[in-house]
Amino acid sequence: MTKQRLAILGSTGSIGTQALEIVRQHPDKFEIVALTANTNVDLLIGQINEFNPQFGLICKDILFKNLKEGVNANTELLSGFEELTTIVSNPNVDTVLNSLVGFAGFLPTLEAIKQGKKIALANKESLVVGGEIIFNALHESTSELIPIDSEHSAMLQCLVGEPRESIEKIVITASGGPFRTYSYEQMKNVTKAQALNHPNWDMGAKITIDSSTMMNKGLEIIEAHWLFDLPVSKIEPVIHPQSIIHSIVTFTDGSSKAQLGPPDMKVPIIYALTYPDRLPLETPRMDWSETHELTFEPVDYERFPCVKLAMDSIESGGVAPAVLNAANEVAVQRFLDEEISYIDIPKIVDKSLNNITSRGEVSVDLLKQIDKETRAYASAVK
Ligand code: MG
Repeated sequence: MTKQRLAILGSTGSIGTQALEIVRQHPDKFEIVALTANTNVDLLIGQINEFNPQFGLICKDILFKNLKEGVNANTELLSGFEELTTIVSNPNVDTVLNSLVGFAGFLPTLEAIKQGKKIALANKESLVVGGEIIFNALHESTSELIPIDSEHSAMLQCLVGEPRESIEKIVITASGGPFRTYSYEQMKNVTKAQALNHPNWDMGAKITIDSSTMMNKGLEIIEAHWLFDLPVSKIEPVIHPQSIIHSIVTFTDGSSKAQLGPPDMKVPIIYALTYPDRLPLETPRMDWSETHELTFEPVDYERFPCVKLAMDSIESGGVAPAVLNAANEVAVQRFLDEEISYIDIPKIVDKSLNNITSRGEVSVDLLKQIDKETRAYASAVK
């Protein structure tokens, strides 16, 4: 059997390191062709020396010297963000696992689609910012795009074997984050340390803050809209604090399917790599000899305005989701820099959406321009 040859973009991050754990569990199924990191050169060196890939890339040019000194594997070493395209288009790559953070992940996804590669996508912004372009490119390509996000993996797993016209709606679950029970008054005083402490999932700083504001759920609704070609009216968020059910699909006959399991990103990662098949995985299982409580609550859009802002941005269409995303990235960073308060995050996003209006057909150049303009505006706005 031939091995699936992987390029892991963002191999030193949370998703990247977990993907490599899967590769370690199945060395007969996967081969690492490329590993890339933004700045974590020490971990990248260790990974390259362990997996001996064809390519190793550090995005920050200044760290290239360290990379060359540390690597003793027979690997072609590259530096600079632009070289991600070189890796993605290499004929030895079957699957691009894109776990880059932010808008930086969009162009590599688009290139991988053009090259007809399979994409295991953990980079939300590819679909949030460039959903329309990605959606159109996929229709003109043999490329297959499989989500790694746990909710979208759950949706995909529920939808296997189901004709799309039988989908009535998708129910996307949300943990509600650490401030689920906070009053708006309490939210005013939320500190960086409190916001970085997520009850169920261990993730990077940006996504942890996004989970706490529930912007993460908003971004995921946009992702689901493009992935499954559904209007926002057919995607309903619900709070499920235990994070055991990862999403639900309700069908036109009134039946619903849910996908569940203990929160562990390795499950959606391996599924994205093996879909529609499955491989054994050493990961925690539900213990049904114990009592479990699975509860559900509606989303309070007053306390979590980010969800509504995201849903409205799909309705607005055009560049609105790109504005939402860029403004949110800036606002989260400003909160992490202790420059603004926690409740200012949605306010900055809202102001940015009102400031920049749509203009014509969405193109890559327009998205770049909007991204830049929004960041400048959101960095300065009070
Ligand atoms: Mg998720």
